[in-house]
Amino acid sequence: MESYKHILLAADFSEHGETVANRAKDLADKYQAKLSMVHVMDNLLITDASYGMTIPFDLDLTAELMAAAKKRMATLAEKLAIDEDCRWLETGSATLEIIRVAEENQVDLIVVGSHGRHGFALLLGSTANGVLHHARCDVLAVRLHDE
Ligand code: AMP
Repeated sequence: MESYKHILLAADFSEHGETVANRAKDLADKYQAKLSMVHVMDNLLITDASYGMTIPFDLDLTAELMAAAKKRMATLAEKLAIDEDCRWLETGSATLEIIRVAEENQVDLIVVGSHGRHGFALLLGSTANGVLHHARCDVLAVRLHDE
């Protein structure tokens, strides 16, 4: 089996994000692969505590939200030693953007977290589910355990 050359971490800055990030970093070190990361901001972001603050909805605040997300991304990227040109901050659908970034950058492994939802949540589809079904490269779903 050929080793992975370019690994993409899909980072959502959630409480379990570190587990997923550490797994991606471990694999990148093991395979001596390039490590990139992507975070996708929802177009309809109203309030989001993930960025360390809660902001009332206002279109003019998009730039501020982007800056906050960038800062969050920089903190994680520095911890993982990810170069600036390997950090992708996108807006839109998380699933579609993760797949697009992976394809445009010849990524051969995407690392996402998976809450192992079932029933209704699975029918509605999670990001992990979407990436797993639509990506052309390998996908590692790191099982996350909700308390
Ligand atoms: P979810 O489907 O929201 O439970 O998320 C599953 C996994 O998809 C997360 O652990 C992340 O790896 C990835 N993910 C979800 N949302 C985003 C996002 N906005 N940007 C980047 N990755 C995401």
